[in-house]
Amino acid sequence: MADIIQLLPDNIANQIAAGEVIQRPASAVKELLENAVDAGATEIRLYVQDAGKALIQVTDNGKGMSETDARMAFERHATSKISRIDDLFHIRTMGFRGEALASIAAVSQVEIKTKRAEDTSGTFIEIDNSIVRKQEPIAANTGTRISMKNLFFNVPARRNFLKSNAAELRHIVDEFIRVAMAFPNIFFSLESNGQQMLYLEKSSLKQRIVQILGNSYAAKLIPVQEQTDYLNIRGFAGKPETAKKTRGDQYFFVNNRFIRSAYLNHAVMRAFEDLIPKDSFPMYCLFIDLDPTQLDINVHPTKQEIKFEDEKIVYAFVQSAVKHALAQFSIAPTLDFELDPGIQSLEAVSKPVSREAEQAAASSGLYESFTRKNQAHFIESRSNLTNWREVYERTNPEVLTDQVKGSETETREGELPNIPLKLVQIFNNYILWPKTDGYLLIHQQNAHERILYEKFLAALDGKSLPSQQNLFPVLLELAPADYVLLEELIPDLKKVGYELEPFGPNCFAIKGSPSDLPAGVEKKLMEELLEDLKHSGLELRISVREKMIRSLAMQQAVKTGKVLSNEEMQEITETLFTCEIPNSTPLGKPTYTVVKKSELDKLFGR
Ligand code: ADP
Ligand code: MG
Repeated sequence: MADIIQLLPDNIANQIAAGEVIQRPASAVKELLENAVDAGATEIRLYVQDAGKALIQVTDNGKGMSETDARMAFERHATSKISRIDDLFHIRTMGFRGEALASIAAVSQVEIKTKRAEDTSGTFIEIDNSIVRKQEPIAANTGTRISMKNLFFNVPARRNFLKSNAAELRHIVDEFIRVAMAFPNIFFSLESNGQQMLYLEKSSLKQRIVQILGNSYAAKLIPVQEQTDYLNIRGFAGKPETAKKTRGDQYFFVNNRFIRSAYLNHAVMRAFEDLIPKDSFPMYCLFIDLDPTQLDINVHPTKQEIKFEDEKIVYAFVQSAVKHALAQFSIAPTLDFELDPGIQSLEAVSKPVSREAEQAAASSGLYESFTRKNQAHFIESRSNLTNWREVYERTNPEVLTDQVKGSETETREGELPNIPLKLVQIFNNYILWPKTDGYLLIHQQNAHERILYEKFLAALDGKSLPSQQNLFPVLLELAPADYVLLEELIPDLKKVGYELEPFGPNCFAIKGSPSDLPAGVEKKLMEELLEDLKHSGLELRISVREKMIRSLAMQQAVKTGKVLSNEEMQEITETLFTCEIPNSTPLGKPTYTVVKKSELDKLFGR
């Protein structure tokens, strides 16, 4: 008898493998969008026909491919993203298995047009059933366009398995949204059968959420943000009143990858406990960023599940981050790791409140002063304006000068109008801004802390702040432990404008300081920073970097009692409302409050 085992031809092997990766049009959409993201695109367009059954086309302006790479990309296990097994634990890209394009080419008819910026001409390749039909140079823009036609044309059994167009399109939209949500700084568009379904301009995360989930969330998103050495959590949760009867608008991303996790969902539900009815679901869109070595993303072929090295820690962080966010926005007193332990043990703080208790309490002045003083919960109706434009748009035209009215129409989207606001300083402490339906009261010091904090945060992120060379370097002599503590921060301090150089044993020379800092205060600031770093023991879970910028923001902020010029008031007001989280200081103190005219009228019996 002859031997009977034979190697499968490539196209059949690919077809079998494709079953894992491409189950339906939406899976191909996800892979193609992720490839475009990995290629560094800033604009990504998806076009589908017949819910992707006839055509899925993704066009990006990313880095494109060389002629050889374009051909290689369709081989199984061909990837530019990992080369060693160790790389698996440092994945920063969305893809890494090198299977998607090979799978797609095995079950559809593919055309690709791609060009790199450095090449004069691009490459066109036509493949069907894993066989290259055509390859030729072509004129093209930088980037890549992949069109896949007639999905499963050669696997009729799978084609028959597809659901109705409506159902398949729904899946496509879901996948599209998950990618678009994670990358708000990328423009995305989705067209189906010639109709524009989604058109998402580059934006902040908050705006992206509203673009996708609708305007009803516009003033109803609570920022969630905690940074620690181990992981960061950022994103938004919907105010309790936006909770819905159906589980829908709930998104978790880990290192920008959408995941499903009943376990982490539970953590959020716990944070919302007592704030929403039992059978309803809060909106959330939370990003967990952590060191990829703490993850195993390789557990599921379509990668929607994830294994954390330490799942319990992540659970605890998610729960406390959301609780903390809700507390800051006045929704519920809660156990809060930033509070003094003495305060934490008070029953009023540690015990979750019921709806009624919350309402009763909110109307009592005692409660208000207690919570304000100790917890920075602030009463909601006072500060539900979260973005400057909203604030601006409500400004009374009458309080604007004529010049203002003239230039109003020229105000471009997302840009602050270059007009003097009418502002008044009171008690050398507050900036008062009259509006149509009331007035805004901005706490100058708190507001400035928020502004500086976000400026420093951006600086650590890469936008380094200008530094001014000191004519005579100031010497900073320290205890050995302090020296070590500060030494670790030298690179980060440089980004926010301080240049420190070791100068003999346990001594630094301060060679430069932020250019907007008055001369002569740098030494004192560094000493205060050290004190803060050493004495914020309660906030152990917050990273040293985070502590550093919080501390610098507090030190450098204009203080209560300082008389401000018109320009200074203008600057603070405008900049505050361009902040990502304008409502509170990094430590959760309110930055401004809105007093409604209707509330005043009520006071006067009108
Ligand atoms: P993976 O994304 O896991 O690496 P794929 O099969 O999706 O595998 O893609 C294979 C390779 O093709 C990628 O590693 C990348 O180098 C290249 N590639 C795919 N899509 C694009 C694109 N839109 N732009 C540039 N390169 C791409
Ligand atoms: Mg890929």
